[in-house]
Amino acid sequence: MKNPRRALATTLALTSLAAGLTVPSAFAAPATAGGPGIGDKVWPELGNGGYDVVDQKLAFTFNDKLTGYTASTTLSARATQGLNRFDLDLLGPEVTGVRVNGLRAAWKSTPQGELVITPKRPVRKDARFVVKVDVKSKVPGVTDPKIVFPPGLIHYGDWIQAINQPSGARRILAVSDHPAQKAPATISITAPVRLNSIANGKLLSTVKTGGTATRVFREDRKIATELLQIGVGPFTVVHARGSHGIDMRYAVPTAQLKEIKPQLKSFDESVRFMEQRLGRFPGVRAGSYIAPVGGELETQGLTLMPADHMTKEGFEQNGVDGVVLHEVSHEWFGNSVSPKTWSDLWLNEGHAVFYEDAWTAARGRQSQTESMRHSYVELGNQMLANGPIAKPNPAKWPGDSAPIRPYGDAAYQGGALVLFALQQKVGAKVFNRIERTWVREHANGVAGTGDFIATASEVAHQDLGPFLRSWLYGTKLPAMPGHPDWKAAA
Ligand SMILES: [Zn+2]
Repeated sequence: MKNPRRALATTLALTSLAAGLTVPSAFAAPATAGGPGIGDKVWPELGNGGYDVVDQKLAFTFNDKLTGYTASTTLSARATQGLNRFDLDLLGPEVTGVRVNGLRAAWKSTPQGELVITPKRPVRKDARFVVKVDVKSKVPGVTDPKIVFPPGLIHYGDWIQAINQPSGARRILAVSDHPAQKAPATISITAPVRLNSIANGKLLSTVKTGGTATRVFREDRKIATELLQIGVGPFTVVHARGSHGIDMRYAVPTAQLKEIKPQLKSFDESVRFMEQRLGRFPGVRAGSYIAPVGGELETQGLTLMPADHMTKEGFEQNGVDGVVLHEVSHEWFGNSVSPKTWSDLWLNEGHAVFYEDAWTAARGRQSQTESMRHSYVELGNQMLANGPIAKPNPAKWPGDSAPIRPYGDAAYQGGALVLFALQQKVGAKVFNRIERTWVREHANGVAGTGDFIATASEVAHQDLGPFLRSWLYGTKLPAMPGHPDWKAAA
């Protein structure tokens, strides 16, 4: 149902225009409260209703020991309704000031992670407005017993790194913390001058004053807050020229530069492997922030990697080339084509596992059919314990696991099985055309499960809806096309 009040306002406007009258703007669209979320079934509190983020400026100032910081968020947004109140997502940091269009605004924080803002003057529908929120916070150390995953920022010795996926950015500063609200970003980091700093996007400027250095980075592509990277540490940034001129940029611990450098080419190899299958890399910059605390994360254009996995020994022992391929594939699946809702996570992780398996097969280690047979037969229906592949049940991530919902086997192995089943059904050639069409049509955008079914059906010239839905929404794995002998474990 449409908002009846808005329908009334439209009628009034049309009638008045017809009569040659001017409509007072207060009647054009009544100002109401924006929703606390965008309506995500897995993460109802993430993102916000009533406006779209157009651009984001995020500025950090760290103290000398990196144990605390102040940060400001400046969002340019467009109101999708008249707003007399709206939310940002913030969980933890202390608010020190809120302004809307330059005027001080009233605010309150809720334990659910909503920063509820009441502007002095309501924002009109379709109007562009600017909201600035200042916060201060401690950075949790990795030894902090209260640390939750995703923590947002992590502090370890002389290092800062961000692990936000899927809900950690709101633990750092005020944001609209949902991939469907991604927007270009300018990120400024002020840190002790003895340390380096890095973030997603291109380095625009470095200004050193007294004991600090401020570096400003600009990511022109839309970026989801879960993919932000904020790095500070004793590292050296090295550049290499990648495929068709892509800037391959690596932030490497200076003390391990010689040890790690030979393994950096794995990122370029991964980009080229993916480009052969999917077409051009969706950005102009790739590479990695290699930090001591670890966690592999596809932070946009600057994959987070643990230093001990990037040494020659760590790299070989842990099969890290496959991990690098997985993370680089997310530049297409997740970073460029972002999930519309968190129930669409299988489109990120299923693809990443699928291409990681393709890489492993191309290296002669294990055929893709064997990898898939293993998931189907050994893991079987257990992977659906937390809900169907495209319909995770958030209640299945209780307590401490709640912050990482809906991450689990259904999205990863289940998602890869859906893609393999589709490939079996339509053949490798048509499947590849579906994949190329998908990443091209939704590049730098947001798309969900229904969009994928539509693209697949259109490219394959057949209605693949019933077939794909049986995989995506079933509570048991369907039979695998071409492999009637595969029996899923109960
Ligand atoms: Zn992944």
